Amino acid sequence: MVIDAHLAYCSGCDRKVRVIVDPRVAAAGREPTAEDLVCLEHGDTCTGELCPLFDVPSEEMKNRYSDLIERARERMGGV
Ligand code: SF4
Repeated sequence: MVIDAHLAYCSGCDRKVRVIVDPRVAAAGREPTAEDLVCLEHGDTCTGELCPLFDVPSEEMKNRYSDLIERARERMGGV
């Protein structure tokens, strides 16, 4: 599976971060919504309560990222 990452400027970290659309969107054959965007760099440097790029609580982005990683692990056989 190829995941197409895009760079976006995060004012919370003052740098560009990699962002993807959740792969489930393509699998479902539907258009992405704002809820389908995932920052691949959550937790590296973000420390605030709000993710300024996606305008969601930091916990929400953490959950999206954790879910993505968990599904990737399951695809790889639960490593
Ligand atoms: S999740 Fe963190 S690193 Fe990613 S855009 Fe939001 S604040 Fe920046």
